[in-house]
Amino acid sequence: MGPLVSEYPANSRRKAFQDLAFQLMSWFVKSNDIDAAVEVCLQRIGEISRAGRAYVFLFHDNGRIMDNTHEWCAEGVTPEKENLQGLETSMFPWWMARLREGVHIHITSVEGLPEEASAEKEILGSQGIKSLLVLPLSIQGELGGYIGFDNVQDTSAWHDRDFQLLRMSADILGNAFERDRANQELVKAKEKAEQAAKSKAEFADYVAHEIRSPLTSISVMVEALGTMELSEEQKEYIGLIREGTTLLNAVINQTLDFSRAQAGRIQLECLSFDIADVIRKRIDIHRNAAAKKGVELSMTVDSKIPSPVTGDTHRLGQVFGNLVSNALKFTDSGSIRINAALDSAKKNTVTVRFSVSDTGKGIAEEAIPLLFERFSQESAATSRKHGGSGLGLAICKYLVQLMGGAIHVESKAGEGSVFTFTAQFGKNSFEN
Ligand code: ADP
Repeated sequence: MGPLVSEYPANSRRKAFQDLAFQLMSWFVKSNDIDAAVEVCLQRIGEISRAGRAYVFLFHDNGRIMDNTHEWCAEGVTPEKENLQGLETSMFPWWMARLREGVHIHITSVEGLPEEASAEKEILGSQGIKSLLVLPLSIQGELGGYIGFDNVQDTSAWHDRDFQLLRMSADILGNAFERDRANQELVKAKEKAEQAAKSKAEFADYVAHEIRSPLTSISVMVEALGTMELSEEQKEYIGLIREGTTLLNAVINQTLDFSRAQAGRIQLECLSFDIADVIRKRIDIHRNAAAKKGVELSMTVDSKIPSPVTGDTHRLGQVFGNLVSNALKFTDSGSIRINAALDSAKKNTVTVRFSVSDTGKGIAEEAIPLLFERFSQESAATSRKHGGSGLGLAICKYLVQLMGGAIHVESKAGEGSVFTFTAQFGKNSFEN
């Protein structure tokens, strides 16, 4: 049961409005439950002003339609909310014009409404409403609805400052509705983006598998041909086909990985492995190609890094594979050095800092900020000369982030590049 009007003489009423405004403010800072706060707000203002019904209307369809979204009724007053859905705002021209001006509507006698408000007079009168108070709600910079109180019995002595405080409450509510709407839009946009990423990933999966099957047949046949008695020319052709299928396979795998990463569908495995071993295996894969180019390939691993660690050995190897093959692609003489050092250690985890340094052609300053974005290659000439999809580093960045680390590059055109990344691994719990 709400307090009686006699408990709210002008001063304490003002204090009650003030308290309400502050209560609303702190409520919205702490909570996202807008409905609960609106209900309290309606009830409190309804009680203070001794209204029969307190309510919120919100507009939609570009302000064309309004719905009664929240309602509080004093004891004995029949709820109207269900009957007040999907109303055309154009039915209330006088009312809407005043709200659009941003002013409150304070009607002490519906009977005494001016001639130009005859439509409102009829509608309000037919609901038995004698007096009311309505305040516009500004949402996202425009009139988004209003908060209203019917049959307000205690308005005769209202002071301008009471209206100011009521405006303040309406502004806080408008703000909360704005935040609520923004949140809903964000959730919708996120769902839409996730759905789009999922469809893209499914499409990429489908296409990749369709390409992979005939590609596997081609590879097998090429290997079979390679075992036959062949002329030098035929051997050369076979070599070219083999190179082509390897490249095509790599592009398919990268495309698949990238679309899976975008759809958030890559999950790390948790296996026990030795970090130095992963690096060594990657170096072995590239040793011949490096030797052919006369590029020295070496590694150093900090003895402080525990072994074994737990993590995704396959994904760590993939990041290395990409960085080392890039380094080799863009280095014609000198060396490629891989380094792994302990960055920090906690009770159950270690962070390791890896680097791949080369003495190759380096990267132009302006290309560096975009390097880890998808489809980024330093120039069209790069892709013509060295191939590649421009997805490798974008995938590396995603995988490194999944491993709890970050990746960056330091490079100068003509002076080589250093790619550094960190990654977190589990520690054997029996070790210290
Ligand atoms: P791609 O699969 O095309 O190699 P990446 O994302 O791995 O794509 O690399 C993007 C671009 O970054 C390369 O095309 C190249 O221009 C540049 N780049 C990467 N690593 C190096 C490096 N070690 N030295 C010079 N340029 C590099």
